[in-house]
Amino acid sequence: MRARLQKFLKRLKQENLDGFIVSSPANISYLSGFTSCDAYLLAAKKEIVYFTDSRYAQEVKPKLKRWASLKKINGSVFEIIANTCRDLQLRRIGFEGRHMAYAEYRKIKGYLRPGEYLIPTHSLIESLRQVKDAGEIEKIREALKITGLALQFVRSFIKPGTKELEVAAELERFIRYNGAIGAAFDIIVASGPNSAYPHHRPGQKKIREGELVLIDIGVDYFGYKSDLTRVFFSDKIKDLTRRIYDIVLEAQRKAITKIRPGEEIARIDALARNYIADKGYAKFFGHSLGHGVGLETHEAPSISANFGGVLLPGMVFTVEPAVYLTGKFGIRIEDMILVTKKGCEVLSGFVHK
Ligand code: ZN
Ligand code: ZN
Repeated sequence: MRARLQKFLKRLKQENLDGFIVSSPANISYLSGFTSCDAYLLAAKKEIVYFTDSRYAQEVKPKLKRWASLKKINGSVFEIIANTCRDLQLRRIGFEGRHMAYAEYRKIKGYLRPGEYLIPTHSLIESLRQVKDAGEIEKIREALKITGLALQFVRSFIKPGTKELEVAAELERFIRYNGAIGAAFDIIVASGPNSAYPHHRPGQKKIREGELVLIDIGVDYFGYKSDLTRVFFSDKIKDLTRRIYDIVLEAQRKAITKIRPGEEIARIDALARNYIADKGYAKFFGHSLGHGVGLETHEAPSISANFGGVLLPGMVFTVEPAVYLTGKFGIRIEDMILVTKKGCEVLSGFVHK
């Protein structure tokens, strides 16, 4: 955690910033090393200040020992932040352009004095978060372990007559009983034609004989997330379903085998996309191939055609090719990959060298 703060302070210096107001809960969690909500963090070379109110103050106090001071908010948090900036003699104060609400920005600005500036920034902390350290990877592994067990457990509930919502409820209960704080996002259980909607919300629909069931589930393990999709079907499934399943699986394999440090991210997306296109299903795969996972379910890097840059060891992201045939069914297969020093590891399964 110390190392993360040091890295961030170095980054601030490069950006010519004296201090930085962090308002995104995930970014505060990242810098503080514990799950934070309803807080602000002011990072400056001289001092790190954590702002929160009486609901959380007692709980976080021992966790801030030796690296940050705590300011309990009563009254306007924005006035307190602005005053603290003045006490620390900060003139160029960065903030997260994507996360601070316009109303908050105006309030803080209103309390600042002439010569003190709020400077918008983009993804300063998010870019650091792309590469995970050993502690983070450990938590992600644990999150995935629970997710894998949940998918195994739920198999017996996937049968004709069961409602999608009932399957989702069983999963939700299971992950909490097995150590997760909760689901990372609303669990998707989509049966039959519903699986053609990438983000279907499970409902009262009952699973019918011969239908496939797509489950997309992630858990939250001490702030770290997982994200996996599996499609379940019986041997009696139609030939077309089987054929599409094999295409999607092969597309995933093609992308995964090329994941290694230095590889262009856009190329990984292209490998899976081109294979699906060659099979004649280009227009049925609309979303990007994957996304980073960590303190948020969707974070950098985006595994897509437009994301510049190359893979780095320590990156963790999903590879989730899909084919959606509206009115019929959809197949998505999603795994989480860790870029290792030489290649990659499928965190949810086998190892690629
Ligand atoms: Zn997913
Ligand atoms: Zn995903």
